Amino acid sequence: MRFALVEGDSREAAPGLAGTCRVCGDATTAKCGQHRIWHWAHKCTRTCDTWWEAETQWHRDWKDNFPKDWQEIIHSAPSGEKHVADVKVGSGATLEFQHSLLPEVERQAREQFYSKMIWVVDGQRRKRDRTQFFASFGNAIHQQPLVFPARLQDSALLRDWKTSRVPVYFDFGRSEPSDLCRFSEPTLWRLNPNSAKAGRPFFPLSRSPI
Ligand SMILES: [Zn+2]
Repeated sequence: MRFALVEGDSREAAPGLAGTCRVCGDATTAKCGQHRIWHWAHKCTRTCDTWWEAETQWHRDWKDNFPKDWQEIIHSAPSGEKHVADVKVGSGATLEFQHSLLPEVERQAREQFYSKMIWVVDGQRRKRDRTQFFASFGNAIHQQPLVFPARLQDSALLRDWKTSRVPVYFDFGRSEPSDLCRFSEPTLWRLNPNSAKAGRPFFPLSRSPI
């Protein structure tokens, strides 16, 4: 986690600090090494939130697009189940930043738990994803906004996410010369919910960070 309680305040990990977990109240230690991003770890358990994944700089850069008090928000279900949302925006929607591969059942569980949410997926984790992603596109069917149909079966990344029932934004960072379209600013590509069912999946293009 990025934040833990230190004398009642939410603090980022720093050398020598001890804190308590905001979710379970257990003791946490600040991990401030050279190899992993600075974070808090539970002293005795691996983590109290089994959905939590080790954060990368990519996660932190995304979180930093939002105020600190929107980051790492504890979300509770009526059953008492608790998880930490990466970001919860003012409207109440949850943003989850996903770097690692997520099994479909886990993705569905998170979509059900948060209900109103979007995914932002790191498109640069696997080398071939970028090439496959752009190769799956057909000709643009709208120019304003720019919209492409896509053959979902041609891209492993799209196959992984095609049954999502919430919007998915793929982050490929800055444009590269081989991309189908190139932009001066980093661009996100949106996969509409339930694209596999819709029969004609397409990607409205978002030209600015969400
Ligand atoms: Zn905990």
